[in-house]
Amino acid sequence: MENLQAMGLEESGSNAHFQENFETIAVRTQSERTQFQEHSVPLYLTSSYVFEDSEDMRASFAEEKKRNIYSRFSNPNTSEFIEKVARMEGAEAGYAFATGMAAVFSTLAALLNSGDHIVAARSVFGSTHGLFTKYFPKWNITHSYFDVNEPETIESHIKPETKILFAESPTNPGVDILDLEYLGKIAKKHDLILIIDNCFATPYIQNPIKFGADLVIHSATKLIDGQGRVLGGVTVGREDLIREIYLFSRNTGPALSPFNAWVLSKSLETLSVRLEKHCENALRVAEFLEENAKIGWVKYPFLKSHPQYKIAKNQMRLGGNVVAFEIKGGIEAGRRFIDSLQLCTRSANLGDTRTIVTHPASTTHSKLNENERLEAGISEGLVRISVGLEHIDDIINDLKNALNN
Ligand SMILES: *Cc1c(COP(=O)(O)O)cnc(C)c1O
Repeated sequence: MENLQAMGLEESGSNAHFQENFETIAVRTQSERTQFQEHSVPLYLTSSYVFEDSEDMRASFAEEKKRNIYSRFSNPNTSEFIEKVARMEGAEAGYAFATGMAAVFSTLAALLNSGDHIVAARSVFGSTHGLFTKYFPKWNITHSYFDVNEPETIESHIKPETKILFAESPTNPGVDILDLEYLGKIAKKHDLILIIDNCFATPYIQNPIKFGADLVIHSATKLIDGQGRVLGGVTVGREDLIREIYLFSRNTGPALSPFNAWVLSKSLETLSVRLEKHCENALRVAEFLEENAKIGWVKYPFLKSHPQYKIAKNQMRLGGNVVAFEIKGGIEAGRRFIDSLQLCTRSANLGDTRTIVTHPASTTHSKLNENERLEAGISEGLVRISVGLEHIDDIINDLKNALNN
């Protein structure tokens, strides 16, 4: 972390031994105080920084000095946010982006060359699927998908030109679980860079680097912000890879705004407390749905009935805040259910304080045909709930009333 520290982060000093625990890292990782001795970190809205003289400027640009030059490269607020996520994930370094998709795109684009190949789980975020299928082929970067329920087939997709193994766990919107330790072993054996989009779990619930991931990506827009306010993204992991990603991003300009970084770093202070409640509510919702006769099946990582329950328990601290279920009666029943909700919101976001319900078959995945949807694990009656922080009785009552309609 020495480079980040030089960019204005306090050395943990005598507090170092307290900084091992997640909650303390979340609250106490903080930019150095200014001469005003403020307790809460100020907002550094500045696009550039000044130099002593021409030699100072030369040495700074030559990277002989680690310091802030221009906020496309670094800024005290973004450095604090990166440092915090890196510590939470057990990573060596990181870079922060304007959105989660900027993080996914810039990370892959920085590391891949024309002719390279990606092996990925078929259940990836819609826009990531768009990158793989629509844009990367323009630069002769190809991909192969494996089925999340057949991880034993992964190795059959690996070619000499495969460079990256990419996956999300839990997946969106099906809430399937991939065995990170197994992915780590495959990546190591075939000398692949393992990249995990850890958005659904957050650094509080799951740390993929422990299981062999080289890089971890987050859309900070979701549970990290947690209140549906700002967009953001971050990639943390191996220093040599982050260096490539940093240089690419310093030139291409997907940097996170200092304001959003400030908001997101504040949000991280309460991440553990929020997630304890989110996950407690989500488990209650999952248990309620499992008992309901109008429901075909329910998927939640910490329900014993989840096909990968054992793996989830091994790699996750909590089950997350997303529950997927199949409503009997297909696409029409799904739409009627969504339309009958009074409290829960129909919205595209997730990880908000407000409970959000989506019906992928008629919305986010409506452009796919039924076969493509089934391949992506999306049945006609699949409903995804991002469980929020309202009182659990009110959430369940709303779901109950809508199911009775
Ligand atoms: C939302 C999301 C993204 C993209 O993040 P944005 O901040 O919306 O750009 C990437 N991956 C996953 C798993 C997501 O849920």
